[in-house]
Amino acid sequence: VVDTETLGRATWTFLHTLAASYPAAPSAAEAARMARFLRDFAALYPCAPCASSFRRILDRLPPDVRGGGALPAWMCAAHNAVNAELHKPLFDCATVGRRWGVCEAC
Ligand code: FAD
Repeated sequence: VVDTETLGRATWTFLHTLAASYPAAPSAAEAARMARFLRDFAALYPCAPCASSFRRILDRLPPDVRGGGALPAWMCAAHNAVNAELHKPLFDCATVGRRWGVCEAC
């Protein structure tokens, strides 16, 4: 049985790694797929209060899927919006590239 914190940590690992792996110059199809994935993710995330608060965050902070490093920066800002709601310290997004990268053995 998993709890909200364990699920959250695992999911942030996935989301930040996903953002780090996103192409610098995405095609229109890749950009549309990522935008759709994030919308669907926010509908399906298996913690109802988390999902509904993340949907509100997506509404006021639309995902930046244009490439050029914007998605890791956006993901960091979105995670910070969750951190703020949970009264957790904010992460320095200038260091996000050092904390999260593409999966080495994947
Ligand atoms: P986490 O917040 O899980 O972060 C994991 C690691 O990521 C940290 O140790 C740090 O190294 C790094 N990190 C922290 N902030 C950032 C950032 N801004 N950018 C990049 N890296 C960062 N829990 C609730 O109780 N209520 C909710 O409404 C809720 N909503 C959530 C919504 C989503 C989409 C997700 C994925 C999780 C949500 N959670 C929620 C879980 C919560 O965000 C945490 O994952 C959980 O509380 C464990 O927190 P943690 O302090 O271990 O670190």
